[in-house]
Amino acid sequence: MAGRHLLRACTALRLVNQNVAVRPLQRTMGTLKGIPTDDEQATGLERRALQALKKGKDPYSMLRPMEYAGTKAEPHIVPGISTKRLVGCLCEEDNTAIVWFWLHEGDAQRCPSCGSHYKLVHSELPH
Ligand SMILES: [Zn+2]
Repeated sequence: MAGRHLLRACTALRLVNQNVAVRPLQRTMGTLKGIPTDDEQATGLERRALQALKKGKDPYSMLRPMEYAGTKAEPHIVPGISTKRLVGCLCEEDNTAIVWFWLHEGDAQRCPSCGSHYKLVHSELPH
């Protein structure tokens, strides 16, 4: 209520007194630049993630993983921070049991049950 009266008073004063430069009433987002985009206002981790996505990288695994054929020529890529990683393979689409095996760094390895190829690729965790 008081704010509305103040707004009316300022508006009336502006209309009556034309010689005095009165600063127009406007909201902070109504500046000439408009509303800032996500790129302009992002900070910290969000900013780093946006910059990495612009470069085509996905350090926080935000995008859907790529699909590979699982053949020897195009093995499933498994990112890892050490020289080996435990991998679970759902050999067929409707299997209820997972086949677990250790995947070592180096050449592509085959799943002991279905024969799909997996390759461990060293990757670093984002800071
Ligand atoms: Zn398998």
